[in-house]
Amino acid sequence: MISVSGVRGIVGGALLPEVVAKFSAAFARLTQKGVVVVGSDTRTSNQMFRYAVFSGLLSSGSEVVDVGICPTPSLQLMVEKLGASGGIAITGSHNPVEWNALKFIRSDGLFLYPEQGKKLLQIYAKERIPRVKWDGIKEVHQNTLAIENHLSKVLKIVDREKIKKKGFKVVLDACNGAGALISPQLIRRLGGKAIELNCRPDGIFAHPPEPIPSHLKQLSEVVKSEGADIGFAHDIDADRVAIVTEKGDILPEDYSLLLIAKFVLSKRKGLVVTNLSTTQALDDVAAEFSSSVQRTKVGDIHVSRCMKEKKAVIGGEGNGGVIIPEIHYARDGIAAIALLLEYLAEASEPLSTLANKLPRYYMVKKKLQFAKGDFSLLKNRLEKEFKEEKLDFLDGIKIILKEGWIHIRPSGTEPVIRIITEAKTRKEAENLNQLAVNQIRYAEGRR
Ligand code: MG
Repeated sequence: MISVSGVRGIVGGALLPEVVAKFSAAFARLTQKGVVVVGSDTRTSNQMFRYAVFSGLLSSGSEVVDVGICPTPSLQLMVEKLGASGGIAITGSHNPVEWNALKFIRSDGLFLYPEQGKKLLQIYAKERIPRVKWDGIKEVHQNTLAIENHLSKVLKIVDREKIKKKGFKVVLDACNGAGALISPQLIRRLGGKAIELNCRPDGIFAHPPEPIPSHLKQLSEVVKSEGADIGFAHDIDADRVAIVTEKGDILPEDYSLLLIAKFVLSKRKGLVVTNLSTTQALDDVAAEFSSSVQRTKVGDIHVSRCMKEKKAVIGGEGNGGVIIPEIHYARDGIAAIALLLEYLAEASEPLSTLANKLPRYYMVKKKLQFAKGDFSLLKNRLEKEFKEEKLDFLDGIKIILKEGWIHIRPSGTEPVIRIITEAKTRKEAENLNQLAVNQIRYAEGRR
């Protein structure tokens, strides 16, 4: 699957080394043969793709800095630190083991903006990308500082002494991904006891890697049996983090952003940025501190970009991807852990109590087969049907009702539409979802 945000696919299926090498050669042209920093998560297919990325970059005249295995946010910070022209992250992120992907990074450490992604695709689509001759081939340099650079930045934004005094007992489930190399160290340097769960960075995943509640039962058990204060789980490239309370309760994914937003806003008022499909609870938290929430299209780059442009104080997505501007405008599961431990150190209550105090909503997500070209017909119908309600057309259509909201958008990568609804009770959220499905089926029948 090729899109403006990168290329991903099944290893040995559509994602082949020759595809990866050609994309890397195209990226060398896009970044005008500058220095490109390359890093990867722990997937076993990465050895093969790393050499393909190096070949592609060198063949088109780039100089390469290889930072090895590290979380995607650590790599993004290294691009900035080294003043490089860009970066390539080889990571399948939260996807199952058979997947892998390339993510392309700008000189400021953010992922390519859509207009740059489009340019990259244009270069890639050319039959022959210009290559250098034998005397134009530059070198690959090794650099092992990505983890330490990231750690030292994160340690600077929290009150270390305050956290150290608590001596937290923390279970960290890295799913044998890149987070294993950094988060246990972070916890120890904050005076905590790190109990490592699935922290062999060998890319053999102990459970499905997406940090969603159904995959975190083992973490919950270990938090309880060890009597820990908190448990964290990363996806394979550690830009996301999910949380388990001291009671072993697995918090919904969006609680990472909610808890951190509450903590950050209690110290500093300011704008919060998230996408249209993230929980309404974030608006409630922001309102508590007289702050407001700006919504963007779905996709982390839209959130990053808006945060940077509007100088937001906190933001991210409901999937556990939190963006902390003091570090950078990128999702960062490691910085999120540091802030959550600081929050816990400052609060006089255990995590389960802090979580219980958050506003509670219920979300229902569905996916329906739908031909992409037909969305405008559906949109017109929904617009007429819900003309009395507040409507938002930034990304698909979002209908904001008294009892909750409905967000309907066509997928960028599959012939499906996604229907997300949220309300104060599960029943209401399900009713809203059914209402949307009925409208879509009716519109289809009319086609
Ligand atoms: Mg990820």
